[in-house]
Amino acid sequence: MKYVSTRGKAPVLGFDDVLLAGLARDGGLYVPQSWPSFSEPEIRTMRGLSYPELAVRVMRPFVEGCLTEDELTALVADAYAGFTHPAVAPLKQLGRNLWVMELFHGPTLAFKDYALQLVGRLFDHVLTKRGQRVTIVGATSGDTGSAAIESCRDRDRVDIVILHPKGRVSEVQRRQMTTVQSSNVRNLAVDGTFDDCQDLVKELFADAAFRDELNLSAVNSINWARVMAQVVYYFHAAVSLGAPDVTVDFAVPTGNFGNVFAGFAAKMMGLPIDRLIVGSNTNDILTRFFEGGVMKTEGVVPTLSPSMDIQVSSNFERLVFHYLGHDGEAVERLMGEFRRGGTLAMPQGAWSVMRELFEGHRFDDAATLAAMRSLASATGEVLDPHSAIGVAAALKSGHIRHDAQLVALATAHPAKFPDAVEQATGIRPGLPPHMADLFQRPERLEAIGNDAAALKAYVRGFAGRARA
Ligand SMILES: *Cc1c(COP(=O)(O)O)cnc(C)c1O
Repeated sequence: MKYVSTRGKAPVLGFDDVLLAGLARDGGLYVPQSWPSFSEPEIRTMRGLSYPELAVRVMRPFVEGCLTEDELTALVADAYAGFTHPAVAPLKQLGRNLWVMELFHGPTLAFKDYALQLVGRLFDHVLTKRGQRVTIVGATSGDTGSAAIESCRDRDRVDIVILHPKGRVSEVQRRQMTTVQSSNVRNLAVDGTFDDCQDLVKELFADAAFRDELNLSAVNSINWARVMAQVVYYFHAAVSLGAPDVTVDFAVPTGNFGNVFAGFAAKMMGLPIDRLIVGSNTNDILTRFFEGGVMKTEGVVPTLSPSMDIQVSSNFERLVFHYLGHDGEAVERLMGEFRRGGTLAMPQGAWSVMRELFEGHRFDDAATLAAMRSLASATGEVLDPHSAIGVAAALKSGHIRHDAQLVALATAHPAKFPDAVEQATGIRPGLPPHMADLFQRPERLEAIGNDAAALKAYVRGFAGRARA
């Protein structure tokens, strides 16, 4: 499988190079040159497979030429062995044709584990083959950092440094990062905001000499391998509910558009999906786009669903590339206008076609709490604020049809957001057993000023230790 950049100017690469590159050199994102696709009989043979078996079937075409099937099988088995539910991504029925898929049974209790647990192992595998190491540096406002640390801890070829804004992440979120005692993991509490953390990381990556010296890398949500691994659970849900003989639609609480783009990929690969429903919080740039065809940035407002407090959905460029007929120059033009002026207007024809598949619905904090409350009282299902927005979007869409199934994705465990859950439902959710002692585990973190030179010295000292 070969991959092309959405801006059309970066070299065409194989899977392993795309994995390590993250962003393409022309500023674009990598996508498969063409979608692998499964026929209806092939999809029928997926019924009854375990999650790891299905994962190998679905991802095999994407890694062709880089990993053998045996290598992929071993990595996948290891990646999902630590998940705490035997079904990995269980489905729960909320109504006659409405389901919720729980994507929070991984080590950090959010859906990002489903991709990152595999991506950390893919990095190690490819780097071992090449005799290389990387230093991953990232900033987090909460969820991503812990999932990235869990995916990289104890990997031989990877060092990871995660910055978080001191005193501005929740205690559960901080402890999920700082109680990891592996020697290749460092947590830095920055005297500043999340934006300061991100600016520091950007400054490191902008220093080409430093980047090359330490082989800096990122595991952020634009990495193709993350999208690839997320396609699997769309197949898992759809096949369990009768695909390809039944239409299965999805509702997805959305921030960077990575998760729902994986649903789009699943459709391209042959799943009978008629509708992809995007749920937004007050930061509703995507919902406004699907309503009006124009993407326009506004300031970010903090909400009860912080992992969706995003101004620009970076994976959206992959969708633009598809609907502009793989015209890299046109993508570059539109993205350039967006970067300069904060507005992206899709050509009317392309937008109309997008609307046949996508729609968006927004929920402010009051509506999110109301959705959590009414769901808990009607079905007993206690959901976190992000997941509740997914279900609420499904209900609002009017697409719950008698002849199709609709699956809303639950992206975080309620215990990650206990205050909001308690406020909405009166129930304070407890951490699952494997994390029950989180508040007793020792923490390890270092404080650092908002200073790029100090950060560089720190990263050089830490990564240098491993290389010595
Ligand atoms: C990251 C995250 C999201 C948003 O997912 P995207 O792929 O960025 O759209 C939603 N919910 C939770 C809990 C998350 O951690």
